[in-house]
Formats: sequence, structure tokens, C-alpha cells
Amino acid sequence: MSGARPARPRPRLETAAVPPPAPERTGDAGAVPFLLDFLPLQGERDTRLARFYERLKAGRLSTTRCRRDGTIAWPPRTACPRCHAAELDWVDLPSTGTLYAFSAVLGGAPLGMEAEVPFAVGLVDLDGVPLRLFGRVVGRPWTELAVGEPVAVESYSTPDGRVYYRFRAGASR
Ligand SMILES: [Zn+2]
Repeated sequence: MSGARPARPRPRLETAAVPPPAPERTGDAGAVPFLLDFLPLQGERDTRLARFYERLKAGRLSTTRCRRDGTIAWPPRTACPRCHAAELDWVDLPSTGTLYAFSAVLGGAPLGMEAEVPFAVGLVDLDGVPLRLFGRVVGRPWTELAVGEPVAVESYSTPDGRVYYRFRAGASR
């Protein structure tokens, strides 16, 4: 290709009034804007998967297994992704796994996590089940992590009373 391209007419942009900002959220979650709150709401009123968080609060990482065909899904579901049955049981998952891949968040951290940069995130293959989970990896600086190393699953509480899981690498190598 050579030569200058002919100038194309600029598309005419429609204009519209910008809607007023949404009111600030109040209550337990404080004034954190909802759209920037990346952890899920966990109560019975917010999700049909509240049991997942209840169990996680007790230190149990779990998911759903289909009663009909035994499919273990991740993340937990309200219906089986294979046969669409709604009859599911909660099953505990292994608390250990292997780091399949990882990366580091060096900037642009989610709201409230700016002070924690840099931090590691990774994909972990849980031991004994065909599931690969994404999550934070803690325990050592990200520069000292290695693909293939063992990690442990742990739950932790957020300041607003929610719970989530993360992976912990061994303290030293
Ligand atoms: Zn099924």
C-alpha cells in the first residue's frame, strides 16, 4: 500500500443528555460505587448461591454436583450445565492445588485494592478434580512464584463482612 488515503467524511455523532449520576450506595457496604465493587453480593436476597458463601465462611470451598449425571461445575450453578437439571448437591472441593499460570497486577487495581499493588493472580488446578479456578495468590511476592508449585485454598473476610477465597503459596522455596 502506498499514497495518502482520501479523506473520509467524519460520521455525524448523535448527542444526548448525560444522565444524572446514580445516588451513592449506603448501608453496610458504605459508599463504594456498586459498579466498582468486584466481589459478589452474597446474601440470600442477592443470590441463589448464598450457600456457597455460607460454606466458605466456615472454611469450606465448595461447588455444585448434579444428582442426575454427577457433573461437578465451577463456578457453582443453579442448574447443571450439561443436562440442565436443577437438582444439585453441594460438595466440598479439595483445599490444595497446583499453580497452572499466574500474572501480576501492577497498576489499575480494583477500587480499594490500590494499596495492595503489586499482587498476583493465578489459575489453579485443584487436586483430584478437573477444575481450574482463578483467584488471588498470596504468601510470597509474585516475582518468587513458579508455575507448577503447590498452593493451598483459604477463605478470608472482607471489612464489610463478606467472604471470598484465595490461594496461598508456600512461605519459602
Ligand atoms: Zn446434569
